[in-house]
Amino acid sequence: MFDLPQRAIDIAAQVESFFQQRVLPNNKLWEQQAKSGQPVPDIQQTLRAEAKELGLWNMALPRLADDEPGLRLTNLEFTAVAEILGRLEWGSHVFNCNAPDVPNMELLQLFGNHAQKQQWLTPLLEGEIGSAFAMTEPYAASSDPTNLETRIERDGDEFVINGRKWFASNGSHSRCELLILVGVTDSQAQKSQRQSLVLIPRHTPGINVVRNLPVFDHLSQTNLHPELEFTNVRVPVSNLLGDEGAGFAIGQARLGPARLHHCMRAIGECEVLISLMVKRSQSRSTFGKRIDEYSSTQAAISLSRIELDQCRLLVQRAAHLLDTVGNKAARKQISMIKVAVAKVYQDIADRCIQLFGARGVTGDTPAARAFGKARAFRIYDGPDEVHLQTIARLEAGEQSLAGLEHYLHE
Ligand SMILES: Cc1cc2nc3c(=O)[nH]c(=O)nc-3n(C[C@H](O)[C@H](O)[C@H](O)COP(=O)(O)OP(=O)(O)OC[C@H]3O[C@@H](n4cnc5c(N)ncnc54)[C@H](O)[C@@H]3O)c2cc1C
Repeated sequence: MFDLPQRAIDIAAQVESFFQQRVLPNNKLWEQQAKSGQPVPDIQQTLRAEAKELGLWNMALPRLADDEPGLRLTNLEFTAVAEILGRLEWGSHVFNCNAPDVPNMELLQLFGNHAQKQQWLTPLLEGEIGSAFAMTEPYAASSDPTNLETRIERDGDEFVINGRKWFASNGSHSRCELLILVGVTDSQAQKSQRQSLVLIPRHTPGINVVRNLPVFDHLSQTNLHPELEFTNVRVPVSNLLGDEGAGFAIGQARLGPARLHHCMRAIGECEVLISLMVKRSQSRSTFGKRIDEYSSTQAAISLSRIELDQCRLLVQRAAHLLDTVGNKAARKQISMIKVAVAKVYQDIADRCIQLFGARGVTGDTPAARAFGKARAFRIYDGPDEVHLQTIARLEAGEQSLAGLEHYLHE
Protein backbone atom coordinates (compact mmCIF):
# COMPACT_ATOMS: atom_id res chain seq x y z
CA MET A 1 0.00 0.00 0.00
CA PHE A 2 1.25 3.51 -0.78
CA ASP A 3 1.34 5.83 2.24
CA LEU A 4 -0.83 8.92 1.98
CA PRO A 5 -0.10 12.18 3.79
CA GLN A 6 -2.30 12.93 6.83
CA ARG A 7 -4.11 15.71 4.94
CA ALA A 8 -5.29 13.26 2.26
CA ILE A 9 -6.35 10.72 4.91
CA ASP A 10 -8.37 13.44 6.67
CA ILE A 11 -10.05 14.52 3.44
CA ALA A 12 -10.96 10.91 2.59
CA ALA A 13 -12.46 10.55 6.10
CA GLN A 14 -14.52 13.71 5.59
CA VAL A 15 -15.75 12.44 2.22
CA GLU A 16 -16.59 9.05 3.76
CA SER A 17 -18.61 10.69 6.52
CA PHE A 18 -20.52 12.95 4.08
CA PHE A 19 -21.10 9.97 1.79
CA GLN A 20 -22.47 7.81 4.62
CA GLN A 21 -24.61 10.51 6.21
CA ARG A 22 -25.93 12.42 3.21
CA VAL A 23 -25.30 10.67 -0.10
CA LEU A 24 -25.95 6.96 0.49
CA PRO A 25 -29.22 7.39 2.46
CA ASN A 26 -30.57 9.39 -0.49
CA ASN A 27 -29.76 6.79 -3.14
CA LYS A 28 -33.35 5.54 -3.41
CA LEU A 29 -34.64 9.11 -3.72
CA TRP A 30 -32.04 9.77 -6.43
CA GLU A 31 -33.21 6.65 -8.31
CA GLN A 32 -36.85 7.74 -8.07
CA GLN A 33 -36.10 11.23 -9.31
CA ALA A 34 -33.90 9.92 -12.12
CA LYS A 35 -36.62 7.44 -13.17
CA SER A 36 -39.18 10.23 -13.20
CA GLY A 37 -37.06 11.89 -15.91
CA GLN A 38 -35.07 14.52 -13.99
CA PRO A 39 -31.77 14.91 -15.90
CA VAL A 40 -30.14 16.20 -12.74
CA PRO A 41 -32.13 14.78 -9.83
CA ASP A 42 -33.07 17.50 -7.31
CA ILE A 43 -31.37 15.61 -4.50
CA GLN A 44 -28.11 15.60 -6.46
CA GLN A 45 -28.31 19.40 -6.79
CA THR A 46 -28.98 19.78 -3.06
CA LEU A 47 -26.05 17.56 -2.14
CA ARG A 48 -23.74 19.28 -4.63
CA ALA A 49 -24.42 22.59 -2.91
CA GLU A 50 -23.69 21.01 0.48
CA ALA A 51 -20.46 19.35 -0.68
CA LYS A 52 -19.28 22.59 -2.29
CA GLU A 53 -20.05 24.52 0.90
CA LEU A 54 -17.93 22.01 2.84
CA GLY A 55 -15.10 22.46 0.33
CA LEU A 56 -15.31 18.81 -0.80
CA TRP A 57 -15.09 19.91 -4.42
CA ASN A 58 -12.89 19.42 -7.51
CA MET A 59 -10.81 16.76 -5.79
CA ALA A 60 -9.69 15.10 -9.03
CA LEU A 61 -7.73 18.10 -10.34
CA PRO A 62 -4.17 18.29 -8.99
CA ARG A 63 -3.23 21.35 -11.07
CA LEU A 64 -5.69 23.99 -9.83
CA ALA A 65 -4.47 27.58 -9.92
CA ASP A 66 -4.41 29.55 -6.66
CA ASP A 67 -7.72 31.27 -7.36
CA GLU A 68 -9.55 28.11 -8.52
CA PRO A 69 -11.84 26.25 -6.10
CA GLY A 70 -10.83 22.75 -5.02
CA LEU A 71 -8.63 20.64 -2.80
CA ARG A 72 -5.52 20.06 -4.96
CA LEU A 73 -5.17 16.38 -4.17
CA THR A 74 -2.51 14.56 -6.15
CA ASN A 75 -3.67 11.65 -8.31
CA LEU A 76 -2.39 9.23 -5.68
CA GLU A 77 -4.20 11.09 -2.91
CA PHE A 78 -7.39 11.11 -4.96
CA THR A 79 -7.40 7.28 -5.23
CA ALA A 80 -8.73 6.98 -1.68
CA VAL A 81 -11.51 9.50 -2.34
CA ALA A 82 -12.42 8.18 -5.79
CA GLU A 83 -13.13 4.72 -4.40
CA ILE A 84 -15.76 6.19 -2.09
CA LEU A 85 -17.36 8.20 -4.90
CA GLY A 86 -17.34 5.15 -7.19
CA ARG A 87 -19.63 3.17 -4.88
CA LEU A 88 -22.62 4.90 -6.47
CA GLU A 89 -23.09 5.72 -10.13
CA TRP A 90 -23.81 9.36 -9.28
CA GLY A 91 -21.32 9.70 -6.39
CA SER A 92 -18.71 11.66 -8.37
CA HIS A 93 -21.30 14.19 -9.54
CA VAL A 94 -21.96 15.34 -5.98
CA PHE A 95 -18.35 16.49 -5.63
CA ASN A 96 -17.75 17.83 -9.17
CA CYS A 97 -15.36 14.94 -9.77
CA ASN A 98 -17.29 13.32 -12.62
CA ALA A 99 -16.37 12.34 -16.16
CA PRO A 100 -16.28 13.73 -18.76
CA ASP A 101 -16.06 17.14 -17.07
CA VAL A 102 -12.88 16.37 -15.11
CA PRO A 103 -10.75 15.32 -18.11
CA ASN A 104 -12.23 18.20 -20.12
CA MET A 105 -11.25 20.62 -17.35
CA GLU A 106 -7.76 19.14 -17.40
CA LEU A 107 -7.55 19.80 -21.13
CA LEU A 108 -8.60 23.41 -20.65
CA GLN A 109 -6.09 23.81 -17.82
CA LEU A 110 -3.29 22.44 -19.97
CA PHE A 111 -4.08 23.90 -23.39
CA GLY A 112 -6.69 26.65 -22.98
CA ASN A 113 -5.72 30.31 -23.36
CA HIS A 114 -6.85 32.95 -20.88
CA ALA A 115 -10.11 33.76 -22.67
CA GLN A 116 -11.01 30.07 -23.15
CA LYS A 117 -10.35 29.39 -19.49
CA GLN A 118 -12.55 32.29 -18.44
CA GLN A 119 -15.37 31.26 -20.74
CA TRP A 120 -15.35 27.50 -20.10
CA LEU A 121 -13.02 26.40 -17.32
CA THR A 122 -14.37 28.78 -14.68
CA PRO A 123 -18.04 27.68 -14.99
CA LEU A 124 -16.97 24.02 -15.14
CA LEU A 125 -14.91 24.39 -11.97
CA GLU A 126 -17.87 26.09 -10.30
CA GLY A 127 -20.12 23.21 -11.42
CA GLU A 128 -22.43 25.58 -13.31
CA ILE A 129 -22.27 23.76 -16.66
CA GLY A 130 -21.47 20.33 -18.12
CA SER A 131 -19.31 19.37 -21.11
CA ALA A 132 -18.69 16.52 -23.54
CA PHE A 133 -15.79 15.15 -25.57
CA ALA A 134 -16.70 14.26 -29.16
CA MET A 135 -14.07 12.08 -30.77
CA THR A 136 -15.59 8.72 -31.72
CA GLU A 137 -17.37 8.43 -35.07
CA PRO A 138 -19.89 5.81 -36.17
CA TYR A 139 -18.32 5.32 -39.61
CA ALA A 140 -14.61 5.33 -38.65
CA ALA A 141 -12.78 2.74 -36.55
CA SER A 142 -12.12 5.32 -33.87
CA SER A 143 -9.84 3.33 -31.60
CA ASP A 144 -7.28 4.53 -34.14
CA PRO A 145 -7.90 8.31 -34.03
CA THR A 146 -5.97 8.83 -37.27
CA ASN A 147 -9.07 7.35 -38.98
CA LEU A 148 -11.35 10.22 -37.94
CA GLU A 149 -13.21 11.89 -40.79
CA THR A 150 -15.02 14.89 -39.31
CA ARG A 151 -13.72 18.00 -41.05
CA ILE A 152 -12.78 21.32 -39.48
CA GLU A 153 -12.24 23.72 -42.41
CA ARG A 154 -11.15 27.31 -42.22
CA ASP A 155 -13.35 29.96 -43.83
CA GLY A 156 -12.00 33.44 -43.06
CA ASP A 157 -12.12 33.98 -39.31
CA GLU A 158 -14.22 30.89 -38.74
CA PHE A 159 -13.94 27.12 -38.70
CA VAL A 160 -16.71 25.17 -40.41
CA ILE A 161 -17.34 21.72 -38.96
CA ASN A 162 -19.00 18.85 -40.80
CA GLY A 163 -19.26 15.25 -39.68
CA ARG A 164 -20.90 12.79 -37.34
CA LYS A 165 -19.88 11.77 -33.84
CA TRP A 166 -21.35 9.32 -31.42
CA PHE A 167 -20.97 8.28 -27.80
CA ALA A 168 -20.06 11.89 -26.98
CA SER A 169 -21.10 11.17 -23.40
CA ASN A 170 -23.45 13.80 -21.99
CA GLY A 171 -23.32 15.85 -25.20
CA SER A 172 -27.14 15.87 -25.23
CA HIS A 173 -27.57 16.39 -21.50
CA SER A 174 -29.44 19.51 -20.41
CA ARG A 175 -26.38 20.73 -18.45
CA CYS A 176 -24.01 20.42 -21.40
CA GLU A 177 -22.86 23.78 -22.75
CA LEU A 178 -19.51 22.81 -24.29
CA LEU A 179 -18.44 20.20 -26.82
CA ILE A 180 -14.73 19.58 -27.28
CA LEU A 181 -14.54 18.10 -30.77
CA VAL A 182 -11.67 16.31 -32.47
CA GLY A 183 -11.60 16.68 -36.26
CA VAL A 184 -9.35 16.86 -39.29
CA THR A 185 -7.87 20.29 -40.08
CA ASP A 186 -5.29 19.12 -42.62
CA SER A 187 -5.97 15.86 -44.42
CA GLN A 188 -2.61 16.10 -46.26
CA ALA A 189 -0.47 16.38 -43.13
CA GLN A 190 1.35 13.46 -41.48
CA LYS A 191 -1.23 11.11 -39.94
CA SER A 192 -0.57 12.19 -36.36
CA GLN A 193 -0.78 15.89 -37.29
CA ARG A 194 -4.06 15.93 -39.16
CA GLN A 195 -6.38 16.55 -36.25
CA SER A 196 -7.15 19.53 -34.09
CA LEU A 197 -9.49 20.23 -31.19
CA VAL A 198 -12.15 22.93 -31.24
CA LEU A 199 -14.40 24.27 -28.53
CA ILE A 200 -18.00 24.35 -29.71
CA PRO A 201 -20.79 25.96 -27.70
CA ARG A 202 -23.36 23.17 -27.48
CA HIS A 203 -26.24 25.20 -28.87
CA THR A 204 -24.43 26.42 -31.98
CA PRO A 205 -26.70 26.12 -35.06
CA GLY A 206 -26.08 23.00 -37.15
CA ILE A 207 -25.71 20.50 -34.29
CA ASN A 208 -28.40 17.86 -34.42
CA VAL A 209 -28.96 15.13 -31.82
CA VAL A 210 -29.70 12.10 -34.03
CA ARG A 211 -30.47 9.81 -31.06
CA ASN A 212 -29.36 8.86 -27.58
CA LEU A 213 -27.75 5.42 -27.64
CA PRO A 214 -28.72 2.78 -25.10
CA VAL A 215 -25.87 0.87 -23.44
CA PHE A 216 -27.04 -2.74 -23.08
CA ASP A 217 -30.60 -1.48 -23.34
CA HIS A 218 -30.03 1.04 -20.55
CA LEU A 219 -31.11 4.57 -21.35
CA SER A 220 -31.26 7.20 -18.66
CA GLN A 221 -31.70 10.97 -18.82
CA THR A 222 -28.95 11.40 -16.22
CA ASN A 223 -26.19 9.90 -18.35
CA LEU A 224 -26.64 10.16 -22.10
CA HIS A 225 -24.52 8.90 -25.01
CA PRO A 226 -25.73 10.77 -28.08
CA GLU A 227 -25.08 10.47 -31.77
CA LEU A 228 -24.50 14.02 -33.02
CA GLU A 229 -24.54 15.34 -36.56
CA PHE A 230 -22.58 18.50 -37.38
CA THR A 231 -23.69 20.35 -40.51
CA ASN A 232 -21.83 23.56 -41.37
CA VAL A 233 -21.32 24.34 -37.70
CA ARG A 234 -19.39 27.62 -37.43
CA VAL A 235 -17.12 28.75 -34.61
CA PRO A 236 -14.50 31.54 -34.54
CA VAL A 237 -10.93 30.36 -35.22
CA SER A 238 -10.12 31.56 -31.68
CA ASN A 239 -12.01 28.44 -30.49
CA LEU A 240 -9.09 26.23 -31.47
CA LEU A 241 -7.80 24.46 -28.36
CA GLY A 242 -4.01 24.24 -28.38
CA ASP A 243 -2.09 24.24 -31.64
CA GLU A 244 -3.55 23.36 -35.02
CA GLY A 245 -2.56 19.78 -35.89
CA ALA A 246 -1.87 18.88 -32.26
CA GLY A 247 -5.22 17.16 -31.65
CA PHE A 248 -3.78 13.68 -31.51
CA ALA A 249 -1.20 14.56 -28.84
CA ILE A 250 -3.69 16.65 -26.85
CA GLY A 251 -6.27 13.84 -26.91
CA GLN A 252 -3.64 11.47 -25.50
CA ALA A 253 -2.92 13.89 -22.66
CA ARG A 254 -6.60 13.80 -21.71
CA LEU A 255 -6.84 10.05 -21.56
CA GLY A 256 -4.27 9.31 -18.82
CA PRO A 257 -6.19 10.88 -15.93
CA ALA A 258 -9.56 9.90 -17.45
CA ARG A 259 -8.60 6.22 -17.46
CA LEU A 260 -7.07 6.42 -14.02
CA HIS A 261 -10.23 7.93 -12.51
CA HIS A 262 -12.50 5.36 -14.16
CA CYS A 263 -10.33 2.59 -12.69
CA MET A 264 -10.39 4.11 -9.21
CA ARG A 265 -14.17 4.45 -9.25
CA ALA A 266 -14.60 0.89 -10.54
CA ILE A 267 -12.55 -0.42 -7.59
CA GLY A 268 -14.95 1.33 -5.20
CA GLU A 269 -17.93 -0.25 -6.95
CA CYS A 270 -16.27 -3.68 -6.82
CA GLU A 271 -15.90 -3.33 -3.04
CA VAL A 272 -19.68 -2.92 -2.82
CA LEU A 273 -20.20 -6.00 -5.01
CA ILE A 274 -17.85 -8.14 -2.87
CA SER A 275 -19.65 -7.08 0.32
CA LEU A 276 -22.99 -7.92 -1.27
CA MET A 277 -21.66 -11.34 -2.33
CA VAL A 278 -20.55 -12.12 1.21
CA LYS A 279 -23.84 -10.98 2.73
CA ARG A 280 -25.99 -12.82 0.24
CA SER A 281 -24.07 -16.09 0.53
CA GLN A 282 -24.34 -15.98 4.32
CA SER A 283 -28.09 -15.47 4.21
CA ARG A 284 -29.29 -18.41 2.06
CA SER A 285 -28.90 -22.19 2.10
CA THR A 286 -29.29 -24.96 -0.46
CA PHE A 287 -29.12 -28.71 0.00
CA GLY A 288 -28.62 -28.32 3.74
CA LYS A 289 -25.62 -25.99 3.50
CA ARG A 290 -25.24 -22.24 3.70
CA ILE A 291 -24.11 -20.95 0.32
CA ASP A 292 -20.94 -19.43 1.78
CA GLU A 293 -19.87 -22.93 2.89
CA TYR A 294 -19.48 -24.13 -0.71
CA SER A 295 -15.92 -24.03 -1.99
CA SER A 296 -17.16 -22.49 -5.24
CA THR A 297 -18.57 -19.52 -3.28
CA GLN A 298 -15.38 -19.21 -1.28
CA ALA A 299 -13.37 -19.21 -4.50
CA ALA A 300 -15.64 -16.55 -6.03
CA ILE A 301 -15.20 -14.27 -3.03
CA SER A 302 -11.49 -14.99 -2.47
CA LEU A 303 -10.52 -14.53 -6.12
CA SER A 304 -12.46 -11.28 -6.18
CA ARG A 305 -10.53 -10.04 -3.15
CA ILE A 306 -7.14 -11.12 -4.54
CA GLU A 307 -7.77 -9.59 -7.95
CA LEU A 308 -9.21 -6.37 -6.61
CA ASP A 309 -6.31 -5.79 -4.23
CA GLN A 310 -3.87 -6.47 -7.07
CA CYS A 311 -5.71 -3.89 -9.15
CA ARG A 312 -5.68 -1.34 -6.35
CA LEU A 313 -1.90 -1.60 -6.05
CA LEU A 314 -1.46 -1.27 -9.81
CA VAL A 315 -3.74 1.75 -9.84
CA GLN A 316 -1.91 3.42 -6.95
CA ARG A 317 1.38 2.88 -8.74
CA ALA A 318 -0.01 4.35 -11.97
CA ALA A 319 -1.36 7.34 -10.01
CA HIS A 320 2.02 7.84 -8.36
CA LEU A 321 3.75 7.72 -11.75
CA LEU A 322 1.28 10.17 -13.25
CA ASP A 323 2.08 12.54 -10.36
CA THR A 324 5.83 12.12 -10.58
CA VAL A 325 6.85 11.38 -14.17
CA GLY A 326 3.76 12.52 -16.10
CA ASN A 327 1.22 11.15 -18.52
CA LYS A 328 3.59 10.11 -21.31
CA ALA A 329 6.08 8.26 -19.14
CA ALA A 330 3.25 6.54 -17.23
CA ARG A 331 1.43 5.34 -20.34
CA LYS A 332 2.36 1.68 -20.00
CA GLN A 333 1.06 1.60 -16.43
CA ILE A 334 -2.10 3.46 -17.49
CA SER A 335 -2.74 0.88 -20.22
CA MET A 336 -2.03 -1.91 -17.74
CA ILE A 337 -4.61 -0.70 -15.24
CA LYS A 338 -7.16 -0.05 -17.96
CA VAL A 339 -7.00 -3.70 -19.08
CA ALA A 340 -6.63 -5.22 -15.61
CA VAL A 341 -9.37 -3.24 -13.86
CA ALA A 342 -11.94 -3.58 -16.65
CA LYS A 343 -11.45 -7.37 -16.63
CA VAL A 344 -11.62 -7.72 -12.84
CA TYR A 345 -14.60 -5.33 -12.67
CA GLN A 346 -16.45 -7.50 -15.19
CA ASP A 347 -15.48 -10.75 -13.44
CA ILE A 348 -16.54 -9.51 -10.01
CA ALA A 349 -19.87 -8.22 -11.36
CA ASP A 350 -20.37 -11.60 -13.05
CA ARG A 351 -19.69 -13.53 -9.82
CA CYS A 352 -22.01 -11.23 -7.91
CA ILE A 353 -24.81 -11.81 -10.42
CA GLN A 354 -24.29 -15.56 -10.11
CA LEU A 355 -24.47 -15.55 -6.31
CA PHE A 356 -27.68 -13.55 -6.38
CA GLY A 357 -29.30 -16.07 -8.73
CA ALA A 358 -32.28 -14.71 -10.67
CA ARG A 359 -32.24 -11.53 -8.59
CA GLY A 360 -28.77 -10.87 -9.94
CA VAL A 361 -30.05 -10.13 -13.43
CA THR A 362 -32.74 -7.72 -12.23
CA GLY A 363 -32.22 -4.11 -11.24
CA ASP A 364 -32.70 -5.00 -7.54
CA THR A 365 -28.95 -5.16 -6.95
CA PRO A 366 -26.20 -3.04 -8.56
CA ALA A 367 -24.63 -6.17 -10.09
CA ALA A 368 -26.44 -6.29 -13.44
CA ARG A 369 -25.78 -2.63 -14.17
CA ALA A 370 -22.16 -3.03 -13.04
CA PHE A 371 -21.74 -5.93 -15.45
CA GLY A 372 -22.96 -3.79 -18.36
CA LYS A 373 -20.76 -0.86 -17.34
CA ALA A 374 -17.73 -3.10 -16.92
CA ARG A 375 -18.29 -4.66 -20.33
CA ALA A 376 -18.52 -1.23 -21.91
CA PHE A 377 -15.37 -0.18 -20.02
CA ARG A 378 -13.47 -2.86 -21.95
CA ILE A 379 -14.21 -0.74 -25.05
CA TYR A 380 -14.31 2.92 -24.06
CA ASP A 381 -11.13 4.79 -23.19
CA GLY A 382 -9.51 2.38 -25.66
CA PRO A 383 -10.46 -1.28 -26.28
CA ASP A 384 -8.48 -3.99 -24.45
CA GLU A 385 -6.61 -4.97 -27.60
CA VAL A 386 -5.29 -1.48 -28.26
CA HIS A 387 -3.92 -1.24 -24.73
CA LEU A 388 -2.39 -4.71 -24.99
CA GLN A 389 -0.72 -3.58 -28.21
CA THR A 390 0.70 -0.51 -26.42
CA ILE A 391 1.91 -2.55 -23.45
CA ALA A 392 3.60 -5.12 -25.68
CA ARG A 393 5.33 -2.41 -27.74
CA LEU A 394 6.61 -0.56 -24.67
CA GLU A 395 7.57 -3.80 -22.95
CA ALA A 396 9.67 -4.81 -25.97
CA GLY A 397 11.44 -1.45 -25.90
CA GLU A 398 12.16 -1.67 -22.17
CA GLN A 399 13.77 -5.10 -22.11
CA SER A 400 17.13 -4.89 -20.36
CA LEU A 401 17.79 -8.24 -18.68
CA ALA A 402 21.37 -9.21 -19.52
CA GLY A 403 22.68 -12.65 -20.47
CA LEU A 404 19.48 -14.13 -21.83
CA GLU A 405 21.52 -16.54 -23.96
CA HIS A 406 22.54 -18.40 -20.79
CA TYR A 407 18.95 -19.45 -20.13
CA LEU A 408 18.73 -21.11 -23.51
CA HIS A 409 20.09 -24.47 -24.59
CA GLU A 410 20.86 -25.37 -28.19
C1 LIG B 1 -20.32 3.85 -22.59
C2 LIG B 1 -19.38 4.49 -23.59
C3 LIG B 1 -18.99 5.80 -23.41
C4 LIG B 1 -18.16 6.43 -24.35
N1 LIG B 1 -17.84 7.76 -24.19
C5 LIG B 1 -17.17 8.39 -25.17
C6 LIG B 1 -16.96 9.81 -25.13
O1 LIG B 1 -17.36 10.49 -24.17
N2 LIG B 1 -16.35 10.41 -26.20
C7 LIG B 1 -15.91 9.70 -27.27
O2 LIG B 1 -15.38 10.30 -28.19
N3 LIG B 1 -16.09 8.36 -27.33
C8 LIG B 1 -16.71 7.69 -26.32
N4 LIG B 1 -16.93 6.34 -26.41
C9 LIG B 1 -16.46 5.61 -27.58
C10 LIG B 1 -15.22 4.77 -27.33
O3 LIG B 1 -14.13 5.53 -26.90
C11 LIG B 1 -14.92 3.99 -28.62
O4 LIG B 1 -16.00 3.10 -28.82
C12 LIG B 1 -13.61 3.26 -28.61
O5 LIG B 1 -12.53 4.16 -28.70
C13 LIG B 1 -13.51 2.24 -29.76
O6 LIG B 1 -13.76 2.84 -31.00
P1 LIG B 1 -14.82 2.14 -31.99
O7 LIG B 1 -16.10 1.94 -31.27
O8 LIG B 1 -14.86 2.94 -33.24
O9 LIG B 1 -14.25 0.70 -32.25
P2 LIG B 1 -13.28 0.24 -33.45
O10 LIG B 1 -12.12 1.16 -33.55
O11 LIG B 1 -14.09 -0.02 -34.65
O12 LIG B 1 -12.75 -1.13 -32.86
C14 LIG B 1 -13.64 -2.26 -32.72
C15 LIG B 1 -12.89 -3.44 -32.22
O13 LIG B 1 -11.83 -3.77 -33.11
C16 LIG B 1 -10.80 -4.43 -32.39
N5 LIG B 1 -9.52 -3.70 -32.54
C17 LIG B 1 -9.32 -2.37 -32.74
N6 LIG B 1 -8.01 -2.09 -32.77
C18 LIG B 1 -7.35 -3.25 -32.54
C19 LIG B 1 -6.00 -3.61 -32.42
N7 LIG B 1 -5.03 -2.68 -32.51
N8 LIG B 1 -5.70 -4.92 -32.20
C20 LIG B 1 -6.66 -5.86 -32.12
N9 LIG B 1 -7.98 -5.57 -32.20
C21 LIG B 1 -8.31 -4.29 -32.42
C22 LIG B 1 -11.21 -4.41 -30.92
O14 LIG B 1 -11.87 -5.62 -30.59
C23 LIG B 1 -12.20 -3.25 -30.88
O15 LIG B 1 -13.11 -3.32 -29.78
C24 LIG B 1 -17.72 5.69 -25.46
C25 LIG B 1 -18.10 4.36 -25.62
C26 LIG B 1 -18.93 3.76 -24.71
C27 LIG B 1 -19.34 2.32 -24.92
